[in-house]
Amino acid sequence: MIKLPDELRELKRFHGHLGPYVVVGYKMGLIGREVFPDKISAVLYTGTRRPLSCVIDGVQFSSCCTLGKGNISVKEDGVAKAEFYDENKLLEITLFENVRSRIDATVTSDNEEMIAFDLFTADPSDLFRITEGESAQSGRVVKLK
Ligand SMILES: [Zn+2]
Repeated sequence: MIKLPDELRELKRFHGHLGPYVVVGYKMGLIGREVFPDKISAVLYTGTRRPLSCVIDGVQFSSCCTLGKGNISVKEDGVAKAEFYDENKLLEITLFENVRSRIDATVTSDNEEMIAFDLFTADPSDLFRITEGESAQSGRVVKLK
């Protein structure tokens, strides 16, 4: 067994087990939170079927977007993608398809913590395509100069 860092132990306790997709969501949420430290909302395209839906808990754990606060919503697209936004900006984070295929082809209940840990230590640029754009809400906001 590997010795898990505190934040992964917390994440495991929150989610009930430690698998790759909750870590993927956790890392997505951290990036989102860094870009939107104050006000943040999220749309997840994972759908609600496991294991991909585990992303939802990871994002809730790290991003400050929660179902209870109503600043997160989930679309049933079955895609490992998250969008974070405020009034002005939109951040899109998509898990690379080859990373997803590798996860789906190799994860078992015996090795999931090890793979989760590898993803945790991986460089985000090796996992995600990250793009920034203008928020869909920005058109409705009056901008003061
Ligand atoms: Zn899970």
